[in-house]
Amino acid sequence: MPIAGALTQTSDYGMRPDPFDGTPDMHRGIDFACTNAVTPIQSVDNGQVVEVERSNSGYGNNVLVKHEEGLYSHYAHLYTISVQNGEMIQKGSEVGKCGSTGNSTGPHLHFEVMTKNQYRSDVDPAPYLGL
Ligand SMILES: [Zn+2]
Repeated sequence: MPIAGALTQTSDYGMRPDPFDGTPDMHRGIDFACTNAVTPIQSVDNGQVVEVERSNSGYGNNVLVKHEEGLYSHYAHLYTISVQNGEMIQKGSEVGKCGSTGNSTGPHLHFEVMTKNQYRSDVDPAPYLGL
C-alpha cells in the first residue's frame, strides 16, 4: 500500500464530477486521505524512479516509479519529494510526504497505475493494491 496503516479512500477510479467545476470528469486514480507534510508516502513495490517533477499545477510535486516491465506507479500532490530521478527503491521506501500541491483541494495522495504508457494511467489501481 502507498500509505501505512488504515487507509481512507476519498475518491475511486472512474467518472466523477470535477471537484472544481462539477463537470463530468474521468478520475484516473484513487485518492487517499493523509496529513499534509506528515504522512509518509511509500512505494508499493521495488522499482526505479523514472520521473520526479516539482510543479504548482496539475499533479503538483509527483513521482513516477517503474516496476516490472510495463508496470508503473504514480504518486501525486506530494508536499515534499524524498527520492531522486533514476534511484532504485524498495517496496515501502518513502517517495515523499503527503501534500496538496497542484490541482488539489486538500491534502491527499492521488495514486495511479499505468500498464502500457508511463504518461497515461489506463487501469484501476484497486486490484493491484488488493482493494
Ligand atoms: Zn485524484
